[in-house]
This record gives sequence, C-alpha cells and structure tokens, in this order.
Amino acid sequence: MKTVTLIPGDGIGPEITEAVQSILKAADVQINWDIQTAGADVAQIEGTPLPNRVIESIKKNKVALKAPVTTPIGKGFRSVNVALRKELDLYANIRPCKNIKGIETPFKDVDIIVVRENTEDLYAGEEEKVNDDCAKSIKTITRKASTRIAQYAFELAVKENRKTVWAVTKANICKLSDGLFLECCKEVSEQYPSIEYKEILVDNLCMQLVQNPQKFDVLVLPNLYGDIVSDLTAGLIGGLGIAQGANIGIDCAVFEPVHGSAPDIKGQNKANPTALLLCAINMLKYINENEKANKIEKALFKVIEEGDVKTADLGGSSTTSEFTSEIIKNL
Ligand code: ATP
Repeated sequence: MKTVTLIPGDGIGPEITEAVQSILKAADVQINWDIQTAGADVAQIEGTPLPNRVIESIKKNKVALKAPVTTPIGKGFRSVNVALRKELDLYANIRPCKNIKGIETPFKDVDIIVVRENTEDLYAGEEEKVNDDCAKSIKTITRKASTRIAQYAFELAVKENRKTVWAVTKANICKLSDGLFLECCKEVSEQYPSIEYKEILVDNLCMQLVQNPQKFDVLVLPNLYGDIVSDLTAGLIGGLGIAQGANIGIDCAVFEPVHGSAPDIKGQNKANPTALLLCAINMLKYINENEKANKIEKALFKVIEEGDVKTADLGGSSTTSEFTSEIIKNL
C-alpha cells in the first residue's frame, strides 16, 4: 500500500482534511497516511512550526497532501510554506483554473494553468532593515531557476495539448531581474516550435484577465506575481474554496490548495473542502490511482452541478459535513 505524508495544518486545515480523508476512505482508496503535524500549535510544543520530521517524511514518501499551515507571526519563524518548498526544492507551483459546471461566475470558458516559480524572487524573504525609516527587500532571479520553470511550463503545455505559453513579468521596470526571467523563457520557447510563445506585463495581464480571461492559456511567472495572479484566477472561477495547487520538485510532490488557513471561519463547519479534495484527486492521478481519482472527481462535480448542497463561499448554506456526506452518497 502506498504511504503518503498528510499534513492536516491548522485553521480550517484539520476540518477539510477530515472531510477529504473520509471521502477517500469511502471510495476505497488504499493509502497509508503518514500524518505529520506542523504550524502554530506545533511551534509551541516543538519550538518550530516545521519540525525536521515533516521534511524527512516527505523525502521518504515522495508525495504529500498538505492543508494550509499558519506560520506564527512576529516570532522570527520563516514561512512554513516557503521553507518546505525550499527544503524539498519544489520548484514548480502549478495552479490550474478552469470553470466548474454549477459554479456561476461572470467569467465563462476560463481554462488557465498558472505555472509559478517557487524558490526565489521577493518571496524568498531576503530582507534587510537599513534603519528605523528604511527597509529593503532583495529580488533574486537566477538563470537556473528561470530556465527550469520555463521548461516545466512548455513541457506541461505539450503534455496538456495547450497552444500558448505566456511569460509574465514587469521587465519594463525590473529590467535586470525580470529581464533575465524573460530572456530564459524566450530561449526555452525556441525549443518548442509547436507552442506559441507570448510575453505580457503583469499589470496589463491583470486588466485583461478580468476583461477577457478566455484569451489566456498557460502562464509562467516569477514567484510573487504568480502568487498574486493565481488568487486572481481563482476568483475568476468562483474563489479560493475551489482552487487547487501542486508543488512539484525533481523527487517530491506536495499537493496543497491555493487558500490559506482561513482563521475567520475556523471550527465553524463552514469551510469548503473542494480545493483540498481536488488536490487529493490530482495526487491520486500522480500516483497512478486514476480509476479512484476519476470516481471521486465525478461525484464531486455531480454534487456541485446539482447545486442543492453548497458551502457558504459558493452561495449555499450547507456545512462542510453535509457537503462531504453528499459527495460520499454520490460515489
Ligand atoms: P494566506 O496568506 O495564508 O494565503 P490569506 O490571508 O490570503 O491566507 P485565506 O486564509 O486563504 O487568506 O482566506 C481568504 C478568504 O477566503 C477568507 O475570508 C476565508 O474565509 C476564505 N476562504 C479561504 N479558503 C476557504 C475555504 N476552503 N472555504 C471557504 N472559504 C475560504
């Protein structure tokens, strides 16, 4: 039986993790969960929100399903998510955004894959306080990281039968750093003549995404723009409750939703488990459990399309448990 690391996280993490585990169990998925706690509560007991055992578990199992984890603020801890991505060299953050039937939004026929560089840029948190009145943040962009994320984006475009890869930067202002990112994307694009290559500035992209999102296909971006733009694209299809993601490295893959720990709705049985469930479905496909993955996906999409049982973020009034039971009923 395959062992997968499971990080239930905090905030709404444990609630949505329980929902997903029960759906997978009902679908008779044979997985041995290696449960690893991390986050603010763990920091109080173990002195760090990301104990080494979590990293070791993922290194051993190679695959993890991860709910959101909160990093305690102001205590000098590095972001758990950033540290995890860095430690495991999870260089590609993939965030597909496609309309789901039954979720009404003003935007139809959206089908975008955000490919976000995951290891450097301003997100690395290299900051310096110059004095009380001045702070600096260092934006590092390297040829190695930019080339490998561009290669990932083009390979993905080929595999998924996509037409276009858009490189997204602010290279007119960050001429050297974003300029290098763009140079690498362009170079890689020349090895993929069957895929159209386009460049766009991130501000222009944001405007066009809310005017004409159908025009976009695969987007490849440096870390920070990728973070921001993928929340925007999640909004196009109905919000964070349904936005899935995956962090891919050479050896390991960690599947995690785009959303954070949503402390405002923690413990209220209100959270939408769809994003984490979609991550779990994607994780099952990754470990070649396609039949089970398709079965769960079908049940999930049926419940959403019927629309009688919906969580509050999608305009309904059902609880997490009611939504979960409905999916189980439809398996
Ligand atoms: P982070 O910085 O950790 O990404 P954040 O502060 O951007 O987190 P989230 O925790 O993702 O924010 O939450 C943003 C909003 O979306 C909140 O109002 C939250 O309740 C809502 N939200 C996030 N995830 C879900 C979910 N799974 N179900 C329902 N609502 C959600």
